[in-house]
Amino acid sequence: MNSQPSKKEMLYEGKAKKIYLTDNPEEVIVYFKDDATAFNAQKRGQVEKKGEMNNAITTLIFNYLKEKGIQTHFIKQLNEREQLVQKVSIIPLEFVVRNYSAGSMAQRLGVEEGIKSPVTIFDICYKKDELGDPLINDHHAVFLGAATYDELKKMYQLTAEINEVLKELFDKMNIILVDFKIELGKTSDGTIVLADEISPDTCRLWDKDTLKKLDKDRFRRDLGEVSEAYVEIYERLKKVLN
Ligand code: UDP
Repeated sequence: MNSQPSKKEMLYEGKAKKIYLTDNPEEVIVYFKDDATAFNAQKRGQVEKKGEMNNAITTLIFNYLKEKGIQTHFIKQLNEREQLVQKVSIIPLEFVVRNYSAGSMAQRLGVEEGIKSPVTIFDICYKKDELGDPLINDHHAVFLGAATYDELKKMYQLTAEINEVLKELFDKMNIILVDFKIELGKTSDGTIVLADEISPDTCRLWDKDTLKKLDKDRFRRDLGEVSEAYVEIYERLKKVLN
């Protein structure tokens, strides 16, 4: 059956997305907003077309990851702003992967941005707005009950696989995947799958030739041409995937 799901009441409103219930208890609708926040929501704004672009970019990337054997919550894109996804319980950890130094790691370690790492760097942060999503380690995650050691092992493995697929994909787009964040969720049968989004909001993407930033850092750092960067990523992605 290929009928459109009916949208019921809003379940949750986040900083960049809203989640709606549907008539199927196993599925929810994600609505992508143009709202942008940074620095733990101290900076707020709107980026024209961002919702449409992030919906379209996430759709292309999640479909591509699925082809490569990565399980995700994604079911289908419904329209310019919305997608239908499997309802999962989000694990309260952010998995950050870094291929180059940038952002909070560069600051914390007192190094320049843009240094290629000889190893893939994995960070985990505890998803807790009141605390500003602090960097934690595996033992803290187990202490908090966010995951078991076994689950963490699986989740790092999945995160590493996603990094390999994405590095190659962005490379074809003439883009360096500097770093990114993903969120994982558990389905009703306990399977761990990729959830949330992968977009210029959640990745650092630099043009290989010019090193121009084509991601949310343009908003965070007031670099201008913010909307244009999201459109550019979408256009390059479409070209490589078609
Ligand atoms: N990131 C994200 N959401 C967050 C924090 C980070 O999507 O709440 C992404 C960010 O866009 C970057 C990567 O994770 O691609 C690493 O971010 P970092 O820890 O350097 O933090 P930031 O400098 O963004 O505060």
